[in-house]
Amino acid sequence: MAKKEDYYSVLGVDRNAGQDELKRAYRKMAMKYHPDRNPGNPEAEEKFKTVNEAFEVLSDPQKRQIYDNYGAEGLNGAASGGFHGGFGGFEDIFSSVFGDMFGGSFGGAGAGSRRRPQRGNDLKEEISVTLEEAYDGIEKEVSYNRVDTCETCHGTGAQEGSGRKTCPTCKGSGVVQFSQGFFSMRQSCPDCGGQGSIVEKPCRDCHGTGRQRSKAKFTVKIPAGVREGVVLRVPNGGDIGTNDGGYGDLYIQTHVKKHKIFQRDGDDLLLEIPLTFPQAALGAAVKIQNIKKEEIKVIIPEGSQHGKIISVEGEGMPVLGKAGKKGDMRVIINLEVPKKLTSRQKKLIEELGQAFEEEGQKKTIFEKIFG
Ligand code: ZN
Repeated sequence: MAKKEDYYSVLGVDRNAGQDELKRAYRKMAMKYHPDRNPGNPEAEEKFKTVNEAFEVLSDPQKRQIYDNYGAEGLNGAASGGFHGGFGGFEDIFSSVFGDMFGGSFGGAGAGSRRRPQRGNDLKEEISVTLEEAYDGIEKEVSYNRVDTCETCHGTGAQEGSGRKTCPTCKGSGVVQFSQGFFSMRQSCPDCGGQGSIVEKPCRDCHGTGRQRSKAKFTVKIPAGVREGVVLRVPNGGDIGTNDGGYGDLYIQTHVKKHKIFQRDGDDLLLEIPLTFPQAALGAAVKIQNIKKEEIKVIIPEGSQHGKIISVEGEGMPVLGKAGKKGDMRVIINLEVPKKLTSRQKKLIEELGQAFEEEGQKKTIFEKIFG
């Protein structure tokens, strides 16, 4: 599948196209390539899938944002695997856009016992990592609940040994007919869901639905440099669908915990260091640690003021999605005035004050501000 193709150009819209424009473009393209109109044409089929894939992403604000920021790769999260293939998964979008035009059963009118596959719901979970974990990247296990195949009946919805019988409502046709005003309408049978048959004795655990809430576990690869709020996608991590519609996806929102020493600013790390007046005035070489607890030497130039920032290149966070690239560390000077002094220190400072005066360097605050 042409995964690398840009979704916007697939639909022929520009990057700031609104929802209405997207729908119009999608209708046009989907009509053109719909398999019903291009029987036995694998190229059209492929194109139809791509068009659906593009629309599925761009019509969903959350997915669109991820796509805009990180491309199709971002949507795949760190895990591999692509979009749900198969037409079934797209059916629900397709009918939601075309629904009003075709009475809700595009291409399926009169199809009788046709079972409409429906993809399962997407789910959302959250995960927290420390700044160190965000620096290195990490694999984490996410445990959550989702709707999955019932383990008791293995999805059949029937008690063990119980078979299926013809649905009494639609007499096995899968459709029911009813009249509304002048129209006679056909609709998928509500009792058997269009299957034409129902189970004789429904499974006690899932009440015949074949689906049940259960625990799920996935290992998620969190990329190095992950930022607060980044959403990762686990394909097929969502609820299971109906009629072989496949699983929805799981979206995991990442939170990065606060660090007790470093503050993060984009890809940079901020570090405040306390300096004495002699260090700031005379300059100094100060040893600090980076996030990996490796020693770094920072040169404080002579005459550094309180609040001065010294950048240490490449000692920040890895840049998400750009292997090997790192932000900077910004060392902020915090000039500390001592609160307790020994008599010797006091004497020395007094002498320094006197020297300032003699050299004409002493000015009162009043003079400094008001000239
Ligand atoms: Zn069951």
